[in-house]
Amino acid sequence: MIAILIHQQLRVRPISDKERSHGERMLLEFPGKGQVICHNTTPSQKSKVFSYNVVFEPEATQEDVLEFSGVKRLLEMAVEGFSCTAFCYGQTGSGKTHTLTGPPGLVERGTSPYSPEHGLVVRSFVYLFRLINERPDSHFILKASFLEIYNEKVIDLLNPGSARKPLQVRWSKETRGFYVENLFTVDCEQLDDLFAVLEEGMRNRAVGAHAMNAHSSRSHTILCVRVRRDLRADADVTCSTHGKINFVDLAGSEMTKRTHSTGKTLEEANNINRSLMVLGYCIAQLSDGRKRGHIPYRDSKLTKLLADSLAGNGVTLMIACIAPTRSNLSETVNTLRYASRAKKIKSKPIVKMDARDALILSLKREVEALHAENQHL
Ligand code: ADP
Ligand code: MG
Repeated sequence: MIAILIHQQLRVRPISDKERSHGERMLLEFPGKGQVICHNTTPSQKSKVFSYNVVFEPEATQEDVLEFSGVKRLLEMAVEGFSCTAFCYGQTGSGKTHTLTGPPGLVERGTSPYSPEHGLVVRSFVYLFRLINERPDSHFILKASFLEIYNEKVIDLLNPGSARKPLQVRWSKETRGFYVENLFTVDCEQLDDLFAVLEEGMRNRAVGAHAMNAHSSRSHTILCVRVRRDLRADADVTCSTHGKINFVDLAGSEMTKRTHSTGKTLEEANNINRSLMVLGYCIAQLSDGRKRGHIPYRDSKLTKLLADSLAGNGVTLMIACIAPTRSNLSETVNTLRYASRAKKIKSKPIVKMDARDALILSLKREVEALHAENQHL
């Protein structure tokens, strides 16, 4: 099965009341079929046309994003044993956090998770439990973790003490993947456990953001739900698959250019720059089928942790978020370009199964095939 590795979407947020009061107007036009026309502000410049798999116009609701972004398919794949990632990319203020979790403070206040304003993560949790309940043939174990990468340091959002002693990213020979050492993971038997992980992590992120100016626009967060499924494949064989879904809220893409800063801010800018630049580079390498050489996943913490879903074990969905007004034009065009590049990547995802289970299952299938052959003789 060939799956689209990066399914590229665009979400355009509405013009805010403040922007309207400053006389800002909509610079984008939506002719349909996934196209967006970006009008330029000077008559001498031509309008640019970009195309995506899906475009969410400013009127789109949070439920529309769940229904039409393809995230449901990602969740189904996570249940089947694939590694999946949904991430939001865009400049600060373009709606990344709104798309993933909802308006500022909604989750942190512990608002009922069934409000229309809740974002993709909460809605995905509800859908995930629906999928699980529809599969009584299997036993599921869900584990969730929530981390932040700030200045190339990994902070556990479920254990705020780790801000003083950042966690290490290591390579596991056993799973052949990167992992974060000593990361707190929560067993989630019920839907409420997943909600609690999100709420706790968002609260801790808000505390960190308060302590450091503009912290949240400079950090990436990864909320990961691991889905282990024990499936009775046959009367006497149970096999386990290990899927996962990452929800990634990236640092503001404008950070990639803030290299004129000095001191600590420069270090921050370079590190944020590095993660986003490396991500962009990995996407560019992956999207150019002919140049499938070295893909530099190891060059940043973010790409290390996303490597398995970018590299072919899974499927990635990227929602590029943009603000539609004149004052954001140059960042908007950058995001539109970045996002249209990611659209071309294709890959063949692989189910992650325990090696022993996979061997037993394949031997069993061989024996069955031999039996069938014998019967024909
Ligand atoms: P980012 O995380 O990219 O910095 P936010 O998600 O914080 O941006 O969004 C900035 C502001 O715009 C917030 O007040 C948010 O609620 C609002 N906003 C963003 N997207 C939408 C949307 N689709 N509909 C309504 N308001 C939105
Ligand atoms: Mg944000």
